[in-house]
Amino acid sequence: MALTGIQIYKHLPKTNCKECGFPTCLAFAMKLAQKQIELDKCPYVSAEAKALLAEESAPPIRKVVIGVGEKQLEIGEETVLFRHEKTFVHPPGITLQVEDTLGADELAGKLKQAQAAGFERVGQQLRLGLVMVKNTSKDKTKFLQAIDVAQQNTDLPLILASSDAAVMEVALEKTAANKPLIYAAAPDNYEAMAALAKKHACPLTVCHAGGLDKLAELAEKVSGLGVNDLVLDPGIHSLGTTLAQLTQARRAALKKSAKGLGFPVMVFAGPPGIDPQQETLRAGVYIMKYAAVIVLRSVENWQLLPLFTLKQNIYTDPQQPLQVEEDVYKIGEPDENSPILITTNFSLTYFIVAGEIENSKIPAWLLIADVEGMSVLTAWAADKFNADKIARVVNTCGIKEQVKNRNLVLPGAVAVLSGEVAELLPDWKVMVGPREASNLPKFMREQSV
Ligand code: SF4
Repeated sequence: MALTGIQIYKHLPKTNCKECGFPTCLAFAMKLAQKQIELDKCPYVSAEAKALLAEESAPPIRKVVIGVGEKQLEIGEETVLFRHEKTFVHPPGITLQVEDTLGADELAGKLKQAQAAGFERVGQQLRLGLVMVKNTSKDKTKFLQAIDVAQQNTDLPLILASSDAAVMEVALEKTAANKPLIYAAAPDNYEAMAALAKKHACPLTVCHAGGLDKLAELAEKVSGLGVNDLVLDPGIHSLGTTLAQLTQARRAALKKSAKGLGFPVMVFAGPPGIDPQQETLRAGVYIMKYAAVIVLRSVENWQLLPLFTLKQNIYTDPQQPLQVEEDVYKIGEPDENSPILITTNFSLTYFIVAGEIENSKIPAWLLIADVEGMSVLTAWAADKFNADKIARVVNTCGIKEQVKNRNLVLPGAVAVLSGEVAELLPDWKVMVGPREASNLPKFMREQSV
């Protein structure tokens, strides 16, 4: 748990010298607790207090970075069990597993598919997080060849999976600069794997299928060898057991009751041969219940669309819905006679309405009202999307200077506002659009808007 202002205050000099820009040490401590300022703004904190505060205020689940550059994957740093308490921080990396027993062409094809997989949704690009290359053949040459093919066909960060430390050493010589995740340190090889992780400064997975106690114990041993960027793998189990272990691991980490569980957890969505539908369902459960890396054996678009959508929803701050700015948006190349529509600034609403206008092939002006990121009906029910708001947006957004026509289309869900809006905007013809955005193309083609 994060430290309170009073707990931090106890470790400050208490001289109220004001050099940090705050009138008292207590005021500074309060800002620190809210994470609105850095500790180094106080030049008088002792090294001892700095170390203590850094350790105490560290998130209960360590942040681990896999890969480098734009596509690096950050996981961990979670601080809560439920997303209504506070947002979840780092969405899990959805991962494609490929094996070095595949032929070069088939392997390249799968990797190209992984590289291209993804969607744009509410203005965000949703992509795969990682590719795992597995040394199923147990053959060093084949593993190195597969890694070469992976590096040629994707720039996604890699997980290198081999139980042979000698093979891993050679693989890391080719890849360590890109900080792959090493998979994995197990009871019979953890010292050698930890030495490699330390030497190459790469994150390391710790795997023990014998239960969370044994996994935590092994993680502490690896940590004791000087490797702290760890990812935990509890092994492949049934959906129920994995779900229970993910939940217990998160609880224990948040309570700081088991030091060895204070790391992000990776899971495999299914054993070899699992039906892809089952695999997708399991992955969905693991997205909701704390997995930081989820390994799939196939990544077809029909699997990824629901998983990415779920991931995006679960990892959106529930107190700050995704929203767009209040403004006039051009859809296509509208002119002074193009239709004018209005809706709210909830991102999903904006992108759905804008998409349907595009589908109509009729260029239009879309006015967006700031209603704190609510959808149309929610904002109407909260009296945020009312006639006054609509009239204010129309009068102040600058649309009147850009168009000749005075036809305004309201969302069908707020047809009840049309009379009041017409009174407030006497120069305008107020029209009521369809209740569902999907009917907008038909409406726009049929109506003279
Ligand atoms: S600079 Fe340090 S000692 Fe001075 S008021 Fe701020 S917190 Fe207190």
